[in-house]
Amino acid sequence: MHEMSLAKSMYEIIEETARKNNAKQVKSVQVELGVLSHAEPDALTFAFEVVTHGTIAEGARFDIIRLSGKAWCMVCARTVPLPKLGAPCPDCNGYQLAVTQGDEMRIASIEII
Ligand SMILES: [Zn+2]
Repeated sequence: MHEMSLAKSMYEIIEETARKNNAKQVKSVQVELGVLSHAEPDALTFAFEVVTHGTIAEGARFDIIRLSGKAWCMVCARTVPLPKLGAPCPDCNGYQLAVTQGDEMRIASIEII
């Protein structure tokens, strides 16, 4: 499962942050997940629970913030909304698009105590 490896690399960052700050427990984690990324929110939440089981982050609240998709249209020469990968430009119906937002996943914040 793709989400499992994402959750693992995410946990490495969380664990390192917690260790550097002498944290006793990770309370919550906020993650930004673009709608164009291949990770499913439900699967990612499940993977996070599995990966953090028995760790400093066990039971931490896990919030996913969905980022909308955006692309640069070379024909219109402007940024247009992109609801999913492979969709055409909503203005010119062209496919000369370069994704500029929405295919990423990153940790937005980590709350520790
Ligand atoms: Zn266009």
